[in-house]
Amino acid sequence: MDVTVAADRAALGKARDALGAGRIALVPTMGALHEGHRSLVRLAREHADHVVVSVFVNPLQFGPHEDFSRYPRTFDADLRVCEEEGVSVVFAPSAEDMYLPDRQVQVSAGGMGGTAEGAFRPGHFDGVLTVVLKLFNLVRPDVAVFGQKDAQQLALIRRMTADLDVPVSIVAAPTVREPDGLALSSRNRYLSEADRRTALALSRALSAGAARAQAGPAGVLDAAKAVLEEAARFAPPLLLDYLILADPATFAPVGGDHRGEAVLAVAAKVGATRLIDNMVLTL
Ligand code: AMP
Repeated sequence: MDVTVAADRAALGKARDALGAGRIALVPTMGALHEGHRSLVRLAREHADHVVVSVFVNPLQFGPHEDFSRYPRTFDADLRVCEEEGVSVVFAPSAEDMYLPDRQVQVSAGGMGGTAEGAFRPGHFDGVLTVVLKLFNLVRPDVAVFGQKDAQQLALIRRMTADLDVPVSIVAAPTVREPDGLALSSRNRYLSEADRRTALALSRALSAGAARAQAGPAGVLDAAKAVLEEAARFAPPLLLDYLILADPATFAPVGGDHRGEAVLAVAAKVGATRLIDNMVLTL
């Protein structure tokens, strides 16, 4: 069956009702779809009869000096991907349709929204949770799929559904990587060849940390830091925003004697591009 494109909330309502019986899975995206997004859609299909993909570059989650206006927009190609992957509905609203001109109320990500990634992007997670809650209310999915690539976002969405009793199951999808380890991202298309070589240090640092999991938190962080410090001397240099070893559910840094699961998360700028990556380790 052909994919239905819903360009505003009213059209989405009709398309959603036309799906009839069966479970619905939602895959929220900002478009510029790549293999990582495809893997989310495939996982969504395992959990539901119909998959709805949203394609919306959400202005609320970008800071004033971030890349909202130059974020890649490749809607025709995105639509082909959705067709190939058997998506039922693509919801691609405009910002004007999504946000009422007199809107007042939004979701607060709380203290957890101000740590790690949130410390570098004030208001980012409030914007993410607000649009995700709106998408949940509009699509009313049984299941929603999110990538482990955005680990803090995933943790906050789980937190929101628990705290606000949102009736949707959250499914996490593993991070899809290039053969050399670079995590796929819509922003990778900004990278020059030299940028890309430097950017490889992110996943190499995480792997170096993971290889020292037996050594405990200090050993993990030291091993990852050594790789990042070396990359700070590359051309172009890797400019580190943060490297943390945190509780995957709360994103609070783990203590020095922590054992069990922890997420090693990194964010850095390479050239004009800001990249994030993470790995979940068992210490
Ligand atoms: P985005 O379009 O970047 O907002 O991402 C939409 C969804 O795709 C989010 O749930 C991301 O975590 C997920 N995603 C992004 N990159 C990857 C990747 N390399 N592997 C798996 N999922 C990803």
